[in-house]
Amino acid sequence: MYGIIILAIVAIAFFIFYNKRKSKFVPSAFPTAWAKILNEKVLFYKNLDPVGQTMFEIRVQRFLANKRITGVDTEINDMIRVLVAASAIIPTFAFANFNYPNVSEILIYPNAFNKDFETGEGAEGNILGMVGNRFMKGIVIFSKPSLLKAFDGKPHSFNVGVHEFVHLIDGLDGAIDGVPEMLINNSFALPWLTEVRKEMQKIRKNKSDINPYALTNEAEFLAVASEYFFDAPEKFERKHPELYAYMKTIFQQDL
Ligand SMILES: [Zn+2]
Repeated sequence: MYGIIILAIVAIAFFIFYNKRKSKFVPSAFPTAWAKILNEKVLFYKNLDPVGQTMFEIRVQRFLANKRITGVDTEINDMIRVLVAASAIIPTFAFANFNYPNVSEILIYPNAFNKDFETGEGAEGNILGMVGNRFMKGIVIFSKPSLLKAFDGKPHSFNVGVHEFVHLIDGLDGAIDGVPEMLINNSFALPWLTEVRKEMQKIRKNKSDINPYALTNEAEFLAVASEYFFDAPEKFERKHPELYAYMKTIFQQDL
């Protein structure tokens, strides 16, 4: 027990020291209500050891201290804020100092929306989340019910939160193309894309349980496969061992 406490203190001290010059953010005690949300809703967090959970909490606080989260025609509360932050932290958990320089604001819509960002009756919206185009740089949008469904505390293969933040990591190098240069170096890109195309063939032949939306292009494949990888890692590893091995290297996480 003491070992874990000492490790946690060392981790926090290291984090503060490392970030001192970069940001004014200093973590304070993590609110009990937020820990309850993470424990009940975010399986990824629940499965971390105590040191990992402390690191996750610090990242959540830092994300929320630096990004604006705004409800559009809908109320938002701490549950939504913490779930947005969790979505951002999960795929970048191995990179303690990463905090999405390409994101400034997250908009929460009351429901699914269409490509003109209209929602409700007559809009026929089926978009659950999206990252801003060149006219809306730095903006991410989520449908509130979809975000809540993504974090219901159960393992499954969909998570709109993880999906959109993986696009943002992918897009850091200027192109959302399924090869995030932050995570994949040149020599690894070709084998990765070869594996992606192999799995796409299986999806086409109905021999894969990965959502066929992944066939849209390599970028959607990465985002869709990441939802499954982070939300139900055991099942993903069992069903897709080769893909799992690649993604473990890409995200530097063994789940
Ligand atoms: Zn997408």
